[in-house]
Amino acid sequence: MYAIHPPWFYRVLSPKYLLCQVPVRNKVAYLTFDDGPVPEATPMVLDILVNFKIKASFFCVGDNVRKHRDIFDRIMADGHAVGNHSFNHLSGWKASPGAYYNNVMACREYFDSKLFRPPHGRFTPGQYFVLRNDFRFVLWSVLTMDYHPAVSPEQCLLNATENLSPGAIIVFHDSIKSKEKMIYALPGFIEYALARGYTFEVLSPEV
Ligand SMILES: [Zn+2]
Repeated sequence: MYAIHPPWFYRVLSPKYLLCQVPVRNKVAYLTFDDGPVPEATPMVLDILVNFKIKASFFCVGDNVRKHRDIFDRIMADGHAVGNHSFNHLSGWKASPGAYYNNVMACREYFDSKLFRPPHGRFTPGQYFVLRNDFRFVLWSVLTMDYHPAVSPEQCLLNATENLSPGAIIVFHDSIKSKEKMIYALPGFIEYALARGYTFEVLSPEV
């Protein structure tokens, strides 16, 4: 089995510092894309979003922004939000608080954002208490599992549609590994949500 929702203890932290779902009652959802930008996946996502006239939030890896600045600039020009996803996708469980902080700040050298999504959703209390001074942590309410080898494209779509609710933060990945499943599931999910009266908004430190 795998977990579509984050661990319960994330949900008891103050949403002022760590957000799993936006506290709204109306039909608003938040699409997020992690691990880009990469030429193999991100432009395809941007094209889909343009077609549907939808804005999303991209949690970018600093080193990918360094390598693919033109794609990052298009994300910004298209009106999407961006968040910090560390410099090179460092797991908090494999780094000291100091090394982790430095890695996140190295990402910030390439773009500024007050949003931070910890890679793999993994961090320690020490890392959290240091970084929450500079960032609002954004986890998710729904993982599509598009990166998981045992999850089919159809199941990714179901993971998203069956867990849609007001304020949902849905995670896809604009990565080479997830591309095929993400490109299958994303348009179907958007159509499903729009048909049920949902709109999509971007994340910000204030939502
Ligand atoms: Zn990631």
